Amino acid sequence: MSAAAISKSFGKSIQVHLVESDDIGTIGVGEATVPHISAFNRLLEINEAEFVRQTQGTFKLGIMFKDWGKLGDSYVHGFGTIGRDLGLMPFHQYWLKARAMGGAKDLSHYSLNTVAAPQGRFMVPPSDAPPNSPLAEIAYAYHFDAGLYARYLRNLSEAQGVRRTEGKVVAIHQDPESGFVESVQLESGATVSADLFIDCSGFRAMLIEDTLHAGFEDWSEWLPCDRAVAVPCAKVGPPTPYTCSTARSAGWQWRIPLQHRTGNGYVYSSQFISDDEAAAFLLNNLDGEALGEPRPIRFTTGKRKKLWDKNVIAIGLSGGFIEPLESTAIFLIQSGISRLMSLFPHADFDEVLQNTYNAQMDFEYKKIRDFIILHYCVTTREDSDFWKYIRAMRIPDSLRAYIDLFSANGQFFREGTELFGLTSWVQVMVGQGILPKTYHPAVDWVKTSDMLGLVEHVEKVVASNVALMPKHEAFIARHCAAPTVSFKVPVRQ
Ligand SMILES: Cc1cc2nc3c(=O)[nH]c(=O)nc-3n(C[C@H](O)[C@H](O)[C@H](O)COP(=O)(O)OP(=O)(O)OC[C@H]3O[C@@H](n4cnc5c(N)ncnc54)[C@H](O)[C@@H]3O)c2cc1C
Repeated sequence: MSAAAISKSFGKSIQVHLVESDDIGTIGVGEATVPHISAFNRLLEINEAEFVRQTQGTFKLGIMFKDWGKLGDSYVHGFGTIGRDLGLMPFHQYWLKARAMGGAKDLSHYSLNTVAAPQGRFMVPPSDAPPNSPLAEIAYAYHFDAGLYARYLRNLSEAQGVRRTEGKVVAIHQDPESGFVESVQLESGATVSADLFIDCSGFRAMLIEDTLHAGFEDWSEWLPCDRAVAVPCAKVGPPTPYTCSTARSAGWQWRIPLQHRTGNGYVYSSQFISDDEAAAFLLNNLDGEALGEPRPIRFTTGKRKKLWDKNVIAIGLSGGFIEPLESTAIFLIQSGISRLMSLFPHADFDEVLQNTYNAQMDFEYKKIRDFIILHYCVTTREDSDFWKYIRAMRIPDSLRAYIDLFSANGQFFREGTELFGLTSWVQVMVGQGILPKTYHPAVDWVKTSDMLGLVEHVEKVVASNVALMPKHEAFIARHCAAPTVSFKVPVRQ
């Protein structure tokens, strides 16, 4: 992603040299995204249908969370808007009053995405949709095969002039005085020198940590999951237009539908379940036959204290990791790249650029961290030691402040450029069982009959528009069906 975006934006003024090792390979997970990825693809002038076909992609209207607040609960965190705002107040404030009066259904009935997703319906906004129709603003992201996306971007980058060297980096050379990285040495003996290095070495963090010792801020106290086991399985039905996340006894399980297979994983805390138990649990909870052996992955939640240090910028897993509950890692890569392009240095590496980059990325990571903790911290589950730990754990003050304000009268204020806005926070707070004590008094300035009429009207408009949408599978078959792939199912001993 870094090589593709920088070569596209800066053209021949910058020479990009990509070093990767086929022997080491990529992490091979990371298949669900947030809507911002479309902007990245547009920057690269990627045709959407072609991209979905090439990556065995499907479309995503949001995430279905099962068993999070309590066993048996289910809600969808959908992209896009909730209802229609009126006057000063966002729609959910009217919904709170209508609900208190017994005149409203569950919040999920008032958003196109949260109604369409469980029905398996999807379409991109039709070009002839009237501007005030909910169909005109369908917000969506993608699920895709991460390996195929990486290959796609590699081809694109090479076509844009990026030089690629296949090889293993075995040593890193620094200027003895400044500590700036001067070159990386490959196993073959060749060296690659540069003015600026982007460390995309994944969890290895070869330049930013092994060489520059940027330091790591550990957030496991709030997000105790430290491992995952992943395995794809055969597709058994039409692909759902949403990611599914089911809370389990020591973490949670993801399900990501692609055109040719379904991606699955169990993210868990090693304090509360063994690796073998987690792998066995995952294999017993797949929709279809496993298409490989479960693959273990270890991680520590947190981020580098400095994501940019000297002439090295860590992008991707080398910079940090927050569990993939809201599919935010690829977004953080995208955001790091666009911030680097805005703050691109001259050869003198003015420190203000680095400090600005680090402060902004720190803010972005921490806001996402808080949003992820929100999914856990208000649970009423007590059915395992993991959930008992979660219930008793302290949470960051920044998150406590958001929860307290919302609990008081349903208000939420997005700070600066934080990724998740009002719709996301409201859906997850309500979905997790936080209901404000009251609504904002401005709601009373609207006549009660008008307010109830608004809520009822929104529900009807959403339902009738969703009924016009095709099934997700039919949409894909018509516009972007990928080539059929057959898998050899491994024989288990
Ligand atoms: C369990 C799990 C689930 C995830 N799910 C999601 C998700 O749903 N959505 C999302 O947005 N993100 C998700 N992510 C994150 C996502 O997978 C990563 O952000 C993304 O794949 C980018 O990884 P990366 O390029 O930083 O690292 P990697 O994929 O590990 O790539 C590292 C690269 O560095 C190269 N390399 C390493 N060492 C050397 C060396 N010595 N010499 C030469 N080359 C070297 C490797 O060859 C490789 O090309 C998930 C991550 C995990 C762990």
